[in-house]
Amino acid sequence: MKHNFNAGPSILPKEVFEEASQGILNFRDTGLSILEIGHRTPLFQSVMDEAIMLTKELMHLDRDHSVLFLHGGATTQFFQIPMNLLNENETAAYLDCGVWGSKAIKEAKLFGEVKVVASSKDRNYTYIPKGYAIPADAKYFHYTTNNTIEGTEMFDIPETNIPLVADMSSDILSHSMDFNRFAMIYAGAQKNIGAAGVNMVIVRQDILGKVNRKLPGMMDYRQHIEAGSMLNTPPVFAIYVCLLTLRWLKKMGGVEGIEKINRAKADLLYKTLDEKHGFELPVAREDRSRMNVVFLIPDHSLEKKFLDACQQAGMVGVKGHRSVGGFRVSLYNALPFESVKALTALINEL
Ligand SMILES: *Cc1c(COP(=O)(O)O)cnc(C)c1O
Repeated sequence: MKHNFNAGPSILPKEVFEEASQGILNFRDTGLSILEIGHRTPLFQSVMDEAIMLTKELMHLDRDHSVLFLHGGATTQFFQIPMNLLNENETAAYLDCGVWGSKAIKEAKLFGEVKVVASSKDRNYTYIPKGYAIPADAKYFHYTTNNTIEGTEMFDIPETNIPLVADMSSDILSHSMDFNRFAMIYAGAQKNIGAAGVNMVIVRQDILGKVNRKLPGMMDYRQHIEAGSMLNTPPVFAIYVCLLTLRWLKKMGGVEGIEKINRAKADLLYKTLDEKHGFELPVAREDRSRMNVVFLIPDHSLEKKFLDACQQAGMVGVKGHRSVGGFRVSLYNALPFESVKALTALINEL
């Protein structure tokens, strides 16, 4: 058996893999594969409708929010957001707290002015900046809720009256929060929601239609809303995997249910790492991510011992991101508690 700590694409529930496989061979006893039916058939429409409904239900979203399943990953949202929300002479506020957020900033600058309200780059993004002011006249405020590469997470929603926009790619649906406070939420599916190839975008309609540039159809959220995420052929299989994962999450007690398990997993691993001699945690304690746990083993012989033990025990995906080094263990929703128990036992025995 493997213990899969990959950062993304990453582990999904076993039953999702089984049902998704079945859907490829014989989708809902139709004698057809999910891969060979038209996206505008009632059969696929029911997949899309249920995925949207479950997303709204699990996130307790109100009616002002639209749920879209789009192409291009979170990276496309880095530019699609300013394209739809920011005129050239206007300013958007951004928090710079990780590699992904800094990419979003770079792209936003192509479309308007960007005010970086705070940055933790001075200490390699190992903490979340606090006590910054969000300008009241900015068009929106953008931040990353969980910094996948650096292992920091922001649990509190910033106080502001301007529209909040968040990249939740790596912690969406992992803990409860008031999702209705956001004007926009986006997430690549391949971490907590499903398969790579689709991007969940949640948008409050009143923020749209206010820029004066011309938008290509595929870049225009309003056209996607009107077309029900079917402006062109949607990534049908990736959306189907999202649906199966959302159903599984509902069975687990929803976001509130999985949050308890996620907290127990992270608490156990951090406690073990804190107590283990030779392991170092670079991230500020109060900002530690529950999804991506980053640590270092400065002693090379201990590092090798750890890596060999992981390999023997079938543990994959423990290496840190190439830009950070060290180790990163991802504890996404689908990672069973048993995998964390196995990893902590292995660490204690080193
Ligand atoms: C993985 C990730 C991305 C990039 O997602 P793509 O779907 O590959 O574009 C962006 N932001 C965060 C926070 C991520 O974890």
